[in-house]
Amino acid sequence: MEQEMAAAMSAGYRVLEEDPADQLDFQDSSSFRDDEGYLNPRIQSAGSHGGRIMRFSKERACTKRSAVLLLCVVLLAIFVIAVIASLARPQCMPPLQKPSVKVEATEETKTTSYSVATTSAATKEPTATVISVTTKSPAIATNGELFPWTDIRLPETTKPVHYELDMVTNLSNFKVTGSVNITFRCTTGVNSIVMHTKSMNLTSPERLQTLGGSAPAVTKMLIYEAHEQVYFEFSNALKPSTEYSIIISFSYKLSETLAGYYRSSYTEKGSQRFLATTQFEPTSARQAFPCFDEPQLKATFSMKMTRDKNLLSLFNTELLKTTLIDDNSEQDVFKTTVKMSTYLVAFVVCDFAKISNITSSGTNISVYTNPEKIGQAHLALDVLQKTIPFYESFFGVEYPLSKQDMIAIPDFSAGAMENWGLITYREASILYQEGVTSSGRKEWIVQTVTHELAHQWFGNLVTMEWWNDLWLNEGFASFVMFLGSDNYNKEWKMMDQFTVFTTQNALWVDSHGNSHPISVDVKDPSEINAIFDGISYDKGSAIIRMLKDYLPDNVFQKGLQSYLKKFQFSNANTNDLWNSISEVANDGAVGSLSDMMDTWTLQMGYPVVNLTRKGPQVCATQEHFLHSPNVKPSPDFPSPYNYRWIIPLTYFTSDAMSEKKTKLMDKSQTEVRFNLDINVRWIKANMNQSGFYRVNYDVDNWNALINQLKEDHTQLTAADRANLVDDAFSLAWADKLSHSIPLDMSLYLLKEHEYGPLSAAVSNLNKIGSVMRSTKGYSSFVAYMLKLLTPQIDHINQTGWDAETTHLGGFLKTTVLSSAVHLGHPETVEHTKTLFRKWKEHGTLVSADLRAIVYCSGIVHGTRDDWDFGWKKYNTTLAASEKTVLLRALSCTYDPFLINRYLHWSLDEDKISSQNTGTVIAAVAGNPAGAHAALTFVIENWDILIERYEDSPFEISQIIKSVTSRISRQFEYDQASQFFISHFNDSNTGKRAVQQALENMKSNILWLSTHEVEVTNWFEANTGS
Ligand SMILES: [Zn+2]
Repeated sequence: MEQEMAAAMSAGYRVLEEDPADQLDFQDSSSFRDDEGYLNPRIQSAGSHGGRIMRFSKERACTKRSAVLLLCVVLLAIFVIAVIASLARPQCMPPLQKPSVKVEATEETKTTSYSVATTSAATKEPTATVISVTTKSPAIATNGELFPWTDIRLPETTKPVHYELDMVTNLSNFKVTGSVNITFRCTTGVNSIVMHTKSMNLTSPERLQTLGGSAPAVTKMLIYEAHEQVYFEFSNALKPSTEYSIIISFSYKLSETLAGYYRSSYTEKGSQRFLATTQFEPTSARQAFPCFDEPQLKATFSMKMTRDKNLLSLFNTELLKTTLIDDNSEQDVFKTTVKMSTYLVAFVVCDFAKISNITSSGTNISVYTNPEKIGQAHLALDVLQKTIPFYESFFGVEYPLSKQDMIAIPDFSAGAMENWGLITYREASILYQEGVTSSGRKEWIVQTVTHELAHQWFGNLVTMEWWNDLWLNEGFASFVMFLGSDNYNKEWKMMDQFTVFTTQNALWVDSHGNSHPISVDVKDPSEINAIFDGISYDKGSAIIRMLKDYLPDNVFQKGLQSYLKKFQFSNANTNDLWNSISEVANDGAVGSLSDMMDTWTLQMGYPVVNLTRKGPQVCATQEHFLHSPNVKPSPDFPSPYNYRWIIPLTYFTSDAMSEKKTKLMDKSQTEVRFNLDINVRWIKANMNQSGFYRVNYDVDNWNALINQLKEDHTQLTAADRANLVDDAFSLAWADKLSHSIPLDMSLYLLKEHEYGPLSAAVSNLNKIGSVMRSTKGYSSFVAYMLKLLTPQIDHINQTGWDAETTHLGGFLKTTVLSSAVHLGHPETVEHTKTLFRKWKEHGTLVSADLRAIVYCSGIVHGTRDDWDFGWKKYNTTLAASEKTVLLRALSCTYDPFLINRYLHWSLDEDKISSQNTGTVIAAVAGNPAGAHAALTFVIENWDILIERYEDSPFEISQIIKSVTSRISRQFEYDQASQFFISHFNDSNTGKRAVQQALENMKSNILWLSTHEVEVTNWFEANTGS
């Protein structure tokens, strides 16, 4: 799954098109790495959540094993007693039960028409025993009876084999009816099964049938809503390894949230049209049909979908045939899928149009959209066409299905979802219109498509065993999408962008005391939902990049290919991947990968490597890096390694700038020493920032590096320059370095022409500016920023705002101009106002990359009539990207009436779709004139927001972070903290976002009280202000 761009920003991507407001929202979510967001196209965030750590911690694994052993002994004893008591009849639930206090045999309940049938030759059936279990806190079913299964995970004794779905979707009354025939096997003789169901009617027993053979009857059905489970009990025990099938009929109304099988709509020629679509990841398939909804319980699926004859339906696989049912409806029958997880099943009923093609390797590919928008689908089809063959070669495994459809859904909570063979997208994540969509959004679309396609192998073909390894799916897709995007367009220099957008974002998120390990123990749906965050996506992909860089050439790719072949159509865990890669490097060159990688996946945070030189000798030590001196690591996730890592430390020196050297720092070593040539002027570690750590040097070395940058910065790569800037500012914020070092370094930027370093500097300086905003030193901050940016502004004015440039050159231009507008650069502001006026009064279109800046500036400096003009355009444009830009630009106004009205409209679904509520609130919060109103609005409407987004932690996190990120005064902190602390407890959605928000607010207050004078003096001394 990919987050929406705004949210994903928090996962590390930028929105270059996005304008001030857009950027706001990202930086804000990162606790203001920027100021108002004009300045920085990067988005940062600190989303991180999680349950308790650690499935792969050896220490903990031991403890867990012991517990499991003890549990097994207890269960075995119970089992033996029960077996004796039941005269050796096959057991049913006991092996599945949690430890119970009392076990007793009871009478069988009356037989109902629920039934189970054997699909193999009938044999003599044993009699079942029904066990009732008393637990400390009994689970009570909806009918008041005891629910016999108390674990939120399903019993391990039942394995689904095949699901036969037969459904009817009625878009006139939004009713769904259907049945599912599930073929399954039991690994032991059980007289009951447990599966998932949520928010549906399992219809009357008369509607259920027995399939063939002499299978036991279904004697009882119980539903336990808290665990979203249904329990079926049978008249006799089932035989191990025999295939049975159970038919369950169901009905419900299409969901009005954005999960499960839900309804969406759009307007075509003035009339509202509806469609039905799915979003199952992670735990919502159970909301569409009863199923064994855990990723390791893979099965095949077939589908018959009855729909209005004027509509069409789509499924993971190809359509086999269509049959006329009556005058109004037809039934589509689809091919059976490959073996797959429930969360990857998808179906859609709509009236969309499509464009199609076929790849060089023979896969049929299509993109579906609302008929009026089909002209915006060509970019996505082109990316699909070029990326499937590239991935087939990269992964060494052919694309396993015969078709790949992609579809733009008008209402969609995430950015996209990798359903196997039927990928669903938010419209703005897939639709592109030449001349309208910015180059930043275009790159985002390419990245989203390549991300979802990477999942077709990594995630769909081989799936994590359980959600604690979600990072394997998302980290890999987030890394491989850079390779896929790079393949799509080499000129975009995607791997250069990785450092700025992924690594540096993850370093920020993971420097919080309230971060979490990549691999976390999660059980219930809210815990699972909560780990779709910057840690799983960005840190996951950053440590994968570090590993790839550390390994000998091709070992990573070969190991990956071996892993995919070995576990295809199955499941694997993190250690399976490390083992596959280690096996490929069979010369022992890489040692035990799991020893090294466990230190990065099983503990939160990362190290700063301190390098000090004495003559030719360098001494390297490591310590846990936290973003502020008043931050401590949360006790929620104690480190199994005492916050020490095995670090592949790379470096080069002034006398051999392209020569990479590597030292492996072990977690048990207190220091590592190595020698340099006596003539070396400086050492630069973490070459191209391919490692996931920061580096601090002694002051002499910092100064030597600064001198190099000022004399000839091109001797270092753009990635290394961006790395030095980001490390220096971050270390100073954490009080590990004087601010004079990064500020002095920033003077070299007067000569910088590359996007990466400039972006890193602007982002970090904006963080300072944001906190200083209400101080007397703020004017000197503005003066310094304008001094730094003036050479770039002059260059853009000389060559022309619309002059052609490279892809990254365009990003640089957007960053500079949006910063200039935000900082109040008079000529730039005036020009944007003129462009807005020409657009409004004469229809003169603004070039795609400048729209976000011009629209926002026009709204900031405009009238209510200008705002209404923007709102009208928002409601009438057909271009998905234009809609997004306008949505954010409208938040730029300084008019209190408009700000408050816009905030209230964000909860009115007739005006703003619920998928965009968080975006509007975050964008308004990023506006200095809207920040307080946004915080007040969130507090006043908290109950509504929580009700609406309880299952969307990302949305809640984005909102919380955005309205708190600028707070740097004690009284503001008191107001915000009082509210959020009183509204959260351990189980609340967004708890970690609140913890991080509190952490950031305190950090801002501390920074201001200790560094305001020093930094103000520096700005004044360097601007003459
Ligand atoms: Zn994904």
